[in-house]
Amino acid sequence: MIEAKHHIPNEILVAYSTGTLPEAFSIIVACHISLCDKCRVEVEALDAVGGAILTNQEKIDVDEDSFFKNNGIDIEFKRKNS
Ligand SMILES: [Zn+2]
Repeated sequence: MIEAKHHIPNEILVAYSTGTLPEAFSIIVACHISLCDKCRVEVEALDAVGGAILTNQEKIDVDEDSFFKNNGIDIEFKRKNS
């Protein structure tokens, strides 16, 4: 197997792990980490940190339709089609 000589910068891996990297770049990162142990370990560590942060967040009550409102989805359309 060919070993990668260049690796993805940490700030790009953070964006990938948090889901804020544009899709086209995410595909490139996914391809790279599928072949690169070093970067895959970094992403796994970042994912673990993100998971721990989410797990330890205080729970808050949210409106049943807040997902749809925040994503610009018409509430009436959702109700008619669910
Ligand atoms: Zn790498």
